[in-house]
Amino acid sequence: MSDSDTKTLCAHVEEKLHTKDPQAYIALIHPASHYCQGCGRSAAKAEHVCRPQKLSE
Ligand SMILES: [Zn+2]
Repeated sequence: MSDSDTKTLCAHVEEKLHTKDPQAYIALIHPASHYCQGCGRSAAKAEHVCRPQKLSE
């Protein structure tokens, strides 16, 4: 099992990464700088969500 491919956070959540491997999930979302306009999720990198929008601080 490898998560080294560029799977989006949106896909990871569908596979319940946030409950199976919380630390790996946290690494993807922290520190959040983008969110997904499609799903509403936040992520550390734009490429981790399917429809990235930058968060303004
Ligand atoms: Zn998404």
